[in-house]
Amino acid sequence: MEASAASTDTIAAIATAPGAGGIGIVRLSGPNARAIGEALCGFDLRPRHARHARFRDGDRAIIDDGIALHFPAPHSYTGEDVVELQAHGSPILLQQLLRRCLELGARTARAGEFTERAYLHHKLDLAQAEAVADLIAAGSDAAARAARRSLDGEFSQRIDALLAALTALRVHVEAAIDFPEEEIDFLADADLQRRLDDVLAEQAALLVVAARGQRLRDGLHVVIVGPPNVGKSSLLNALAGNARAIVTDIAGTTRDLLREAVRVDGIELTLVDTAGLREAGDAIEREGMRRARAELLRADLVLAVVDARDADAGRAKLATELAEAPRVLWLYNKADLLAPDALPDARADDLWLSARNGLHLDALRLRLRAAAGLGDGAAGAFSARARHVEALRRVGTHLETTARRLQVERAGELAAEELRLAQLALGEITGVVGSDDLLGAIFSSFCIGK
Ligand code: GDP
Repeated sequence: MEASAASTDTIAAIATAPGAGGIGIVRLSGPNARAIGEALCGFDLRPRHARHARFRDGDRAIIDDGIALHFPAPHSYTGEDVVELQAHGSPILLQQLLRRCLELGARTARAGEFTERAYLHHKLDLAQAEAVADLIAAGSDAAARAARRSLDGEFSQRIDALLAALTALRVHVEAAIDFPEEEIDFLADADLQRRLDDVLAEQAALLVVAARGQRLRDGLHVVIVGPPNVGKSSLLNALAGNARAIVTDIAGTTRDLLREAVRVDGIELTLVDTAGLREAGDAIEREGMRRARAELLRADLVLAVVDARDADAGRAKLATELAEAPRVLWLYNKADLLAPDALPDARADDLWLSARNGLHLDALRLRLRAAAGLGDGAAGAFSARARHVEALRRVGTHLETTARRLQVERAGELAAEELRLAQLALGEITGVVGSDDLLGAIFSSFCIGK
């Protein structure tokens, strides 16, 4: 999409934060924003000047009173003329104000259209625009901080720097192709290899922070799995801090094979009974089994719970169920029932704990926070999305192919083509290269008025 065309129409929407203490905002952006604002207020709007106004309808009747603000292009959120009318937060009044804006020639904004216009006027790049939505939807303090850093452009700056290094590399290789008699020497050049290695190292580093940022944004999906009655619900309750899950004394009384999921500080915890993985009787149980297995495969982390009094045998039994689970942390629960001197030290991938008396639950919380990217490493995290991570992976694949073309095959033209593909993939992240479909998908997920 050509990202410079000036908008010819003016958009309007109610942009009110929920629970904003009684203030509602109608926002206008486009060439007629100022004229529409002045018609509503009955006076000339001075740039960046807050002034009390009575907003009137077509019959000069007062709809409401409040504050009018005008931000002339290009120094506004969208880069266009923007007017904000702050009124009382009554939905009825705000609808009347919006209706008056529409009568005066504005049209209703689509979801995310203000931010889309900001992108089209180069006020934000695509990753920053997405960070606006992430900031609004952030589910934890760490996720909000990460979104803020992306919005400030820290993620984009690293992408841009990598893109610049890639471009320089491609220019170098293309130049070599133009001088075939020297091509082989050029391509075997140690300096070229070193620069390619640097680019690869930065791609790998960015992939790590982006993957962490994606977990911060989307939350960590954790499954608690184990046989009935080992204390899974009790653990979930202890972690959630309130009695959300149902704790029962009798093994296998429930047909509800996949139990409630609870979200704690960006971590989504789902309970699965191993009974639900094996014993499929009627259709309901078979459906439960299918869902339980799907949960295990989808998990970022599996907490495998075993009775501490039966640790080795319990673990051996459960291990086959978990053969395909990507990451497993073993928890030996009910350790309060062991003699104190029978309690082994915690090891890297397992913990002896008690949901009943709280033993080592803090250690479990720390492990969960670290796995979710909320641990110490979260300080420098950016918010990122699945599409960023996926694009960075493709960049990596193209760079590795580039290295092979250069070092093994000495095929300059093919290497240049791989570098071009890597550039394209990287450009998708900030929107230097973007399709209309991609833009539509991103901005339509925003709320109205943003
Ligand atoms: P689930 O079927 O795996 O979800 O197990 P529950 O959480 O329902 O617990 C089964 C029984 O074990 C209940 O009576 C719990 O009170 C008890 N229980 C759970 N955790 C502990 C623990 O750490 N120590 C002791 N002694 N009992 C526990």
